[in-house]
Amino acid sequence: MKIPLTTLPLASAFAVENMDHTPGLFILKNKNNFQAAITSYGARWVSMLVPVEDNKMIDVVLGFDSLDGYLRSTEAYYGATVGRYANRIALGRFSLDAQEYSLAINNPPNHLHGGIRGFHAEVWEVKNRSENSVTFEYISKDGEEGYPGKLSVTVTYLLSDNDEMEIRFEADTDKPTVLNLTNHAYFNLNGQGSGTILDHTLQINANAYTPIDETSIPTGVLEPVDGTPFDFREGMRIGERINEPDKQLTNGSGYDHNFVLNRTDNAYLLAAAATGDQSNIRMEVFTTEPGLQLYTGNFMNNENVLKGGQTDGKREAFCLETQHFPDSPNQPSFPSVVLRPGEKYFTKTGFRFQHT
Ligand code: BGC
Repeated sequence: MKIPLTTLPLASAFAVENMDHTPGLFILKNKNNFQAAITSYGARWVSMLVPVEDNKMIDVVLGFDSLDGYLRSTEAYYGATVGRYANRIALGRFSLDAQEYSLAINNPPNHLHGGIRGFHAEVWEVKNRSENSVTFEYISKDGEEGYPGKLSVTVTYLLSDNDEMEIRFEADTDKPTVLNLTNHAYFNLNGQGSGTILDHTLQINANAYTPIDETSIPTGVLEPVDGTPFDFREGMRIGERINEPDKQLTNGSGYDHNFVLNRTDNAYLLAAAATGDQSNIRMEVFTTEPGLQLYTGNFMNNENVLKGGQTDGKREAFCLETQHFPDSPNQPSFPSVVLRPGEKYFTKTGFRFQHT
């Protein structure tokens, strides 16, 4: 079905609704006039328009208004589906069933976000399409980027009438492998290009987090957040404690840490909520995953020109990446990321927007 194009200027700069192997742009709409754009290049979330007063829309997801913008960006992960392994694997090495595997060191001395040509850099095939959803598929070859097993992956974006962008990942493999998929949207709830996110408030349902070493690899400890700058349980301004002389904040150049979500099973739970101080747009994050990476755009550096001509300045967005814990393949005490033939990988994350 062909969806009528909207006033989105970015629609013209992509091959719209392209079902073959040229990246296309897919517009999703719900009954409440929320509207999102997704591209098959990296199965990326390109924009999220939230209706506010006076028929205005605020775009809370950072991205580019052309494919070229994504191809040229110094930051590879805007809005992307990240895999096979989101986040870091120490020294690009792990062993599985007594077999050693070695991966690209693309974030020295570690492996980051699936390697040099991770899922973010592939053109995904369109499997299903409706007015409010799109499903993409990617088949990753055995040995791709050093990972074992031929992997079939799908990602579905569904913009519900609950004003929630649901993202579902499914996968299966023909050999034992490791897998950790996430979406890497950069959010600014005051609107892309409206300054830093330091005055957003953020609440995270996590009593603990995983401290990191100087190379951003977890030490293996689950550290209580109590009494630390990582205590977002009651809600706190993101900028409130970000500049404190804290070894962990130094190691991450700000927040770039995995939170251990309060849960006892893999139910779909509220993990976090954030509110833009200027817009009053609130975003709730739900997930089946055990972890949540808070990354506060510490390395953004005005190097890229985003939609509408704004550049991407330091801390002008934050990411809430639902995930298994970083470096789990090397951390036996962390929840397992091993996927075996016959098993079905399934995770679901939702970002729900409300304007008050
Ligand atoms: C990582 C950061 C990295 C960012 C963008 C995040 O998931 O934790 O260290 O800079 O992605 O690549």
